[in-house]
Amino acid sequence: MLKSRRFRLKTFFEEYSLDAVLFTDLRNIRYLCGFSGSEGALLVSRDVAWFLCDSRYTAQASEEVHSAEVRECGPVRIDTIAALAEESGLSRIGFEASHTTVSAYRKMAEKLSGVELVELGTNLDEIRICKDAAEIELLGAVATLSSLSLGAVLRHIKPGVREADIALELELEMRRRGAEDKAFDFIVASGVRGAMPHGRASDKTICSGEMITIDFGAVKNGYHSDETVTVACGNPGSRAREIHAVVKAAHDRAMDAVRPGISCRDLDGVARSYISDKGYGEYFGHGLGHGVGLEIHEAPTLSPRGSMVLEEGMVVTIEPGIYIPGFGGVRIEDTVVVTGDGCHVLTSADKELIVL
Ligand code: ZN
Ligand code: ZN
Repeated sequence: MLKSRRFRLKTFFEEYSLDAVLFTDLRNIRYLCGFSGSEGALLVSRDVAWFLCDSRYTAQASEEVHSAEVRECGPVRIDTIAALAEESGLSRIGFEASHTTVSAYRKMAEKLSGVELVELGTNLDEIRICKDAAEIELLGAVATLSSLSLGAVLRHIKPGVREADIALELELEMRRRGAEDKAFDFIVASGVRGAMPHGRASDKTICSGEMITIDFGAVKNGYHSDETVTVACGNPGSRAREIHAVVKAAHDRAMDAVRPGISCRDLDGVARSYISDKGYGEYFGHGLGHGVGLEIHEAPTLSPRGSMVLEEGMVVTIEPGIYIPGFGGVRIEDTVVVTGDGCHVLTSADKELIVL
């Protein structure tokens, strides 16, 4: 499996005439060799791979790393890389320019003076864009864990509860169910705060009749989940109900349109044009969604500028919203995997308007 993932590097080797690629981004390293620790490097040549770590990680690496030789480095890792490059005759090495600091690059250029260093952009991360069966299983498991956790927390929401307490209870539920972390700082935005698409949980207490947008996710085995519900605490009134219905219909239309071959721009347009037709176009300011995997936000991007075309195995969010300053907002988000003829929904919280 890891070898087939590494096969995706082939186009980079060819396009840039590389002898090897040096990875320092931990998500890419985990994807390509299985290491889940917090420091290391992976050097992949056309036919061999070396995982490089210091002595703190040697035992962990020998358990986790597959299809790569584990090398313990001395105090300066780049010295080991320079020695490997020399002994293996690697003269053109690509590196992750978007995950390398200027100072790290300078040190690398100094120590690898006989090597041509080739900058590879964010498209290198796109080797992870189509998920394999093992990844889809992990993404499904973390999405289920996360959706169930929300269900356990919703019943405790009532007037007087703080947004921050809802976020805390949700995280506790996730961890009890085996999450290793939360995927991001949860958004719990009630009442007029709902107009902020990224309103983090605050000290504000929930009042009767308010809508509450809860955007949440967990991490397990390195994989993220991402889901949003907007619920009401008591009767929210007709305007809020109408906005919820428009967002829900836009969400459903976009979900129905997900299939291989549709461009990210056109998929975004399905939801956006519906919301515009209903008169709320100016209140939907963000893109329709994004890829989810070892990162919470990764390729592809679903937006009016998204030029990529969906392929089977991509995992993306569908998350239209309407945010009205001074009034509030609604977002509804599911995470789906693109299948041969449509999509399979990984997240499972109820998206109809729930009145608590
Ligand atoms: Zn989200
Ligand atoms: Zn999202």
